[in-house]
Amino acid sequence: MTTETVGCVPALDDLERAVEELESRPMSQFRTVREPAAELERQARERGAEELAQRALLLCAGVMLREGRTGEGGQIAHQVCAWAERHDAPTVQARAHRELSIFYRAVGDSSEGLTHAVQAVAVLPEDAPGSVRARHLLSLSVALEEGGSYADGERRAREALTLAATAGDTEMTMLVLNNMAYSAFELGDEPAARRLVEQMREIQARTGHRFGANEVDTMARVELMGGRFEAVEDLLRPVLADQVLANESDAVAECLLTLALARRQNGRFDGCQEALDAARKLCAERELAAVSARVREEQAALFAATGRYAEAYEEHRAFHAESTALHSAQRDARARALQAVFEANEARRASEHFREMAHRDALTGLYNRRHINERVPALLVEAAAARRPLSLAIIDLDHFKRVNDTLSHATGDMVLQHVAELLEEAAAGPAIAARMGGEEFLLVFPGVDAAEAAQRCERLRLRIRAHGWEPITGTLQVTTSVGVTTAPDGQATFSALLSQADRNLYAAKRGGRDRVVSGAAG
Ligand code: GH3
Ligand code: MG
Ligand code: MG
Repeated sequence: MTTETVGCVPALDDLERAVEELESRPMSQFRTVREPAAELERQARERGAEELAQRALLLCAGVMLREGRTGEGGQIAHQVCAWAERHDAPTVQARAHRELSIFYRAVGDSSEGLTHAVQAVAVLPEDAPGSVRARHLLSLSVALEEGGSYADGERRAREALTLAATAGDTEMTMLVLNNMAYSAFELGDEPAARRLVEQMREIQARTGHRFGANEVDTMARVELMGGRFEAVEDLLRPVLADQVLANESDAVAECLLTLALARRQNGRFDGCQEALDAARKLCAERELAAVSARVREEQAALFAATGRYAEAYEEHRAFHAESTALHSAQRDARARALQAVFEANEARRASEHFREMAHRDALTGLYNRRHINERVPALLVEAAAARRPLSLAIIDLDHFKRVNDTLSHATGDMVLQHVAELLEEAAAGPAIAARMGGEEFLLVFPGVDAAEAAQRCERLRLRIRAHGWEPITGTLQVTTSVGVTTAPDGQATFSALLSQADRNLYAAKRGGRDRVVSGAAG
């Protein structure tokens, strides 16, 4: 039977390698990530490999964010980020912050986008591969520039560039250069933009890299800055002939728009109209609302350039209406996406709250038996591994029935609450105080040997006895009996320890109450 399962369940190492491979794929190929990531998440979950499952889940979130399923992607990225924070998985956390930065920028909250981009770099461990750090620095650079901090953005981009080049990651190097060149274009800094394009060409000549439509568009825009219309035509011709990889869905439409602009400025109005018609067709096919509005804007400019002012006016009105509709649709989508993430956070907080509640005793707020049953066996495993002692004490109130009987049940409750506070005090450091039920409590002392445990219990006994009970119980004394025991090198089961502590407690009661009895079995 075992040989059968070995055949179809991939080894953990293989799963990890597969996740790593998907993580290192260039983002232009995000569509190829969707299905394998979902499958790897399922397999990792089946194997109980939680961290791998979270990494695969984050890959799915990344695809959603790039496909426009913004709310869903943001929600998952938030969950993975919280998981990584709780489980001290900094690489996963850094990646999740990067996706969250993309999410917040997509919904128009650029300051939150910047916060997460900073975290994505800050949390990333020192020994992360250069190309991963480069990717995170590039996100930070984009977020900074979006917020208007161009100098800081450029500094981060340069760091990313050095790292990507040192790591020999051509795709990432190109991506950084392309972003830098486009920023220089937007800032109207033609010499800087030209230098960056020159660097892109050098790398292309050296490595045989194939420029994608995004990169070609950037280079064409830079040529346009200098009015070199022929160079724009030369660059964009292969795009029109469908010979260039469109790395994003609107990349080709953007190229057509650049071409239209160049031809209009060059006085080639017929050619401009051709490019606009082609762009309009593409926008309709691919539902590119944002580019579509800009096509109308350029059409209006073309009409105006050819003296068709009435048509220019109509086209401009249409442009205005489309972009207004677009913005309100975007606002709605943003609001929905933010709301989805907000709800996911609320649900997580609520479930954490309920989990905590399920581990607490309602009357005293101390941990309950359920918590102890889950926690102590784990503490014993740790103690045994480190060959460290663990001590455990049962504390039982003496003649507690009398408090209930002669005073009231409510008074009894109050006494239990005060005792609980004194127990909390006694449980300083890594010790745990719990109410096991009724008037019986437990103290667990990880790392505490028998002598010290006996001392601490004795101190607690005296402290409870000396407490100012008079306002609550009048002349009735409140005392406790304690049975304590120790596993010197952690080598004991929880139930064996509990039985021994219970036997010691019984001895304390029999011996006259208000005392501590310690010692191991034997
Ligand atoms: P001993 O010294 O032998 O431990 O005597 P005892 O009276 O403390 O022990 P016994 O087990 O006979 O009685 C425990 C009493 O604790 C019985 C019950 O009324 C009371 N008790 C249990 N749970 C609660 C509670 O939540 N609130 C109050 N007020 N009393 C409780
Ligand atoms: Mg009792
Ligand atoms: Mg009892």
